[in-house]
Amino acid sequence: MSTVTDIFGSMVFDDRVMRATLSSKVYASLRKTIDEGSELDISVANAVAEAMKEWAVSKGATHYTHWFQPLTGITAEKHDSFISPSPDGAVIMEFSGKELIKGEPDASSFPSGGLRATFEARGYTAWDPTSYAFIKGKTLCIPTAFCSYGGPALDKKTPLLRSMEVLSKQAIRILKLFGADDVKRVVSSVGPEQEYFLVTREMYEKRPDLRFSGRTLFGAKPPKGQELDDHYFGVIKPGVAAYMEDLNEELWKLGILAKTEHNEVAPAQHELAPIYSTTNVATDHNQLTMEIMQKVAAKHGLVCLLHEKPFAGVNGSGKHNNWSISTDTGKNLLSPGDTPAQNAQFLLFLCAVIKAVDDYQDLLRISVATAGNDHRLGANEAPPAVISMFLGDELNAVLEAIEKDKPYAGTKKTVMKLGVDVLPKFNRDTTDRNRTSPFAFTGNKFEFRMLGSSNSIACANIMLNAAVAESLKQYADKLEGAKDFEKALHDLIKKTVKDHKRIIFNGNGYDDAWIKEATEKRGLLNYKTTADCMPHLLDKKNVKMLTELGVFSKEELDSRCEIMLENYCKSVMIEAGTMVDMARTQIAPAVERYAGDVAKKASVKRELVPSLKCKYETDLVKTLSSLLDEIEDGVKKLEDAMVAIGNISGIIEESAAIRDKILPAMSELRLPCDKAETLTDKSYWPFPTYADLLFGVK
Ligand code: ADP
Ligand code: MG
Repeated sequence: MSTVTDIFGSMVFDDRVMRATLSSKVYASLRKTIDEGSELDISVANAVAEAMKEWAVSKGATHYTHWFQPLTGITAEKHDSFISPSPDGAVIMEFSGKELIKGEPDASSFPSGGLRATFEARGYTAWDPTSYAFIKGKTLCIPTAFCSYGGPALDKKTPLLRSMEVLSKQAIRILKLFGADDVKRVVSSVGPEQEYFLVTREMYEKRPDLRFSGRTLFGAKPPKGQELDDHYFGVIKPGVAAYMEDLNEELWKLGILAKTEHNEVAPAQHELAPIYSTTNVATDHNQLTMEIMQKVAAKHGLVCLLHEKPFAGVNGSGKHNNWSISTDTGKNLLSPGDTPAQNAQFLLFLCAVIKAVDDYQDLLRISVATAGNDHRLGANEAPPAVISMFLGDELNAVLEAIEKDKPYAGTKKTVMKLGVDVLPKFNRDTTDRNRTSPFAFTGNKFEFRMLGSSNSIACANIMLNAAVAESLKQYADKLEGAKDFEKALHDLIKKTVKDHKRIIFNGNGYDDAWIKEATEKRGLLNYKTTADCMPHLLDKKNVKMLTELGVFSKEELDSRCEIMLENYCKSVMIEAGTMVDMARTQIAPAVERYAGDVAKKASVKRELVPSLKCKYETDLVKTLSSLLDEIEDGVKKLEDAMVAIGNISGIIEESAAIRDKILPAMSELRLPCDKAETLTDKSYWPFPTYADLLFGVK
């Protein structure tokens, strides 16, 4: 039996392998590129490619691919084999530096939102040496960024790398003011906690809704749901345990630090959390994790559902994005320090995040917007669509004291002046837990909880990095020119608290009273759906910030807005079509058959005993018949709404119509169908029920 340490990273061309297979000169040069972003010489690239190929072939690989993340939200790959003909009729395995650095997939079918006409469907992929190459199956995968000729990014990785760059640059300006001249880079790190459901493949195959849209579009509430909370952290069933074991092993081979796993609140729901890593690596790893989760499930006769809301009335799945920023010298900038100066610096970075979240609530909401996640945000288990921040009582009291120039108990009743008084030490373990906040400080990091389980974490981190970089940039502009640094710093923190305290909320985020207060008194945004928020990506202030920082160009933003809205429209329209189909060809016929059989049996009884009233049968047949009428009405209404969508031009108008007409018609159709399910003999029902699905994995 091989041990975890044996298999960990065994399929990754990581630092250990580089060191062992590259000459010291080539290794040093590559390391410089990875650590400092310096340009890579072609001779070095050739040497790296050769070593990579030798290593990959020794592990059984026959192909290589540039692995990238187009705007579809999944990953893409196009495999090329290493083989090259040799004059004697045999083949040799070849891989050049050029092939490593740059690839040209035929990109015509990837969404580009008008950035590129299909006839000039040329895009290229460029190696991201900061994310290690790995082997999946028989293919060497090279993590890359994906751009079109002429520049605009066609993927999620490119803007993510840009956002990390600007955050580093602005944070270094601030650190210099505090005398930290040795810092060369600041990196943002993420640990994404991934939720998912497992159902049996056999049942999954019988549900067109799950197969086509990833979620159930029909289904009456089961007699037992999550009321008892008995699943949360409960004993893991043998079938699930075997799956998790296998999953961990596959992830470890790829160098993914899968660390914890447990049952979640809903039955059949589970969570996997890795140890955090640099944002771009974490993003690559999370994409891989989602892919491997599905592959391993298939081996176990299961299907892993990554949809945000697979079951109505049962908790949905999210992805908690634990985010922090730290220096290359190993200091977490969101960790309170021991000395007054360190604490002042901590408070400044904290304020930068507070300001960023308040100024760019809309961008954060947009970064997690999908048709699937709309069902989750605002439902009773997830954070609401209104963004607010949780800091905990202690930190809150500190900020309040600074804002009001009032004494703070933690500093021996003296008026707090930054840089003079020692702030209390914040113990990570004493920060209170608030599970309802969309954006919570958890001692030395922030937990952004609005991400949907199927989202790429790239978008959220792009916006977060960019917005915080913008705060830091404004701070640095002010502080660099200040005559009295300490006073300027104090004023800046005070002003930030004053201007942005509306975003801080330490209460229960699920409470309706909070939504009212947030929107009416505090003026916070409440974009309930993707159709509501997405157009604001192009608001002047957002375009200005993102383009001035160089994270996106205006045309990239235009295209992304269009692609995201298109995606929303397509997802909902697929669901609507699936509903029409299931209601008409499966549900209505089943109900009709059952009602007919009941009626037949009643008439047989009456023939036998003419005095019988058969009230039960008569009432049931009546109810089922009127439900059948409602189902037919609902189907027609939904179909009409779908036809009307076809006549709308403009993606913003279309998405609004889908929100206003299609989604309500879908809910309306679902009602009589679910009602009929509760009245129909189970043996007639055409597909597995919620109870079957949720409690089916043994
Ligand atoms: P919690 O109890 O809040 O869920 P954990 O310690 O279990 O906290 O961590 C949850 C996730 O946060 C893990 O993926 C972990 O690696 C990640 N994490 C921990 N510290 C940091 C940090 N400084 N920056 C980013 N992510 C972190
Ligand atoms: Mg958590």
